[in-house]
Amino acid sequence: MFEPIKHWLEHRHIQQLGFTRPDWDAVNAGWQVLERYSEAERQQLFELTLRFLVHKVFASGRDFELAGPICLKVATMACVPILNLGLSWYDDWQTLIVYEGDFRPKRPFRGDDGVVHETGPGLSGEAWQRGPVILSWEAIQHCGPHVRSGKAGNVVIHELAHKLDMLKQGANCAPPLHKGMSAQQWHDVFESAWLQLQGLVFHYHDFHQGKAHKHGLHGESALHGMLPIDLYGLTSPAEFFAVCSETFFEAPVVLKQALPDVYEQLGLFYRQDPAALL
Ligand SMILES: [Zn+2]
Repeated sequence: MFEPIKHWLEHRHIQQLGFTRPDWDAVNAGWQVLERYSEAERQQLFELTLRFLVHKVFASGRDFELAGPICLKVATMACVPILNLGLSWYDDWQTLIVYEGDFRPKRPFRGDDGVVHETGPGLSGEAWQRGPVILSWEAIQHCGPHVRSGKAGNVVIHELAHKLDMLKQGANCAPPLHKGMSAQQWHDVFESAWLQLQGLVFHYHDFHQGKAHKHGLHGESALHGMLPIDLYGLTSPAEFFAVCSETFFEAPVVLKQALPDVYEQLGLFYRQDPAALL
């Protein structure tokens, strides 16, 4: 289709959405991530959000009533990672499915006890390669700087980071990098940070094994306190990239202080510097 016609159609669909800037400000009120941006960046994000809503399909999971303001909020969060990249980074998928709460995928799941169950545990979000992004509205409402065990969390940014990672050879902590970025440096920085945090976890368990028996009071909470990111990020390289990404946007200073090289690489990738905006 000719570019001018494409733009005209997009503009018409945006008008039909009927969302105004005050609507957008209202649904996102209090979200720290937006408060860091300048007015010009907020306007840019608002316009990108409307384009996202026109190009993506929102579907409700089970019988959840998916109201307009919910879509507006989810779309805003989804657009934060691509604010300076552009909507084309999300071109290879179209649908977001939003459930009222956590959802249980219907596929065989092997529990810790080795028993295979028909469905897995409840999930707050999931991203499929070239498929939909699935989200829990309840989890989205709890996004913020101290959600999971005192760690920053944002399920929307987390799942969309997986989508960006999947653009090159599946989700493996290696998204397509921009010209001028070094794949070797990216790999070395993330590997070194991964080993550093895995080392902390290993030493923690080693050190507390004896004491835990004696006092019976050492849970995982102290370990969570020692780490700059949620412990879940250490389950795989893909989760490491997604969890570092949500921390980059929700608690940038924490990430920059603890893992400055990871922060720098993510800044180059997302073309944003959220810690400097504070
Ligand atoms: Zn994940």
